[in-house]
Amino acid sequence: MRRPLTEPPPIPDDAMLAELATSVDRSARRLLGRSLSIREVDAGSCNGCELEIHALNNAFYDLERYGLRFVASPRHADVLLVTGPVTKNMREALERTYRATPDPKWVVAVGDCGFDGGIFAGSYAVTGGVSQVVPVDLHIHGCPPSPAELLKGLIALLERASAKGGSP
Ligand code: SF4
Repeated sequence: MRRPLTEPPPIPDDAMLAELATSVDRSARRLLGRSLSIREVDAGSCNGCELEIHALNNAFYDLERYGLRFVASPRHADVLLVTGPVTKNMREALERTYRATPDPKWVVAVGDCGFDGGIFAGSYAVTGGVSQVVPVDLHIHGCPPSPAELLKGLIALLERASAKGGSP
């Protein structure tokens, strides 16, 4: 019998994740007076970035205990977390999601594809990075970025917004 071809799970670093997640929640409460609500938008990703974003909510990381919430509607969101190169088919959906999100709002482009199209740049089916379609406040690089890098990006976003008095 061959063993399953799965990778071993990452070594838990609960203290580091707890510190990062608590920092996100503290910054959000200082800026908004409540927890941060995030709407994830897949604008054409290969789903690698989604696996890492979903990991924030799984039983291993379970970051909702620190107040980080993923919401089902852009109308309830503070942050749009956008993955993938923006495909031509998803361009309008991303624009409509952006318009449906109440101000003040922040857009975070996740992954190398979200930055400039990544490995899909130049494809006939792709418009380009997220900033080609909607204004982007922060890029989180990586292919894909790890949950810890996602949290560090959110902290940087909130701290920058606080320094600007809460405006995007
Ligand atoms: S950055 Fe990497 S993991 Fe994320 S959508 Fe692009 S190819 Fe997939």
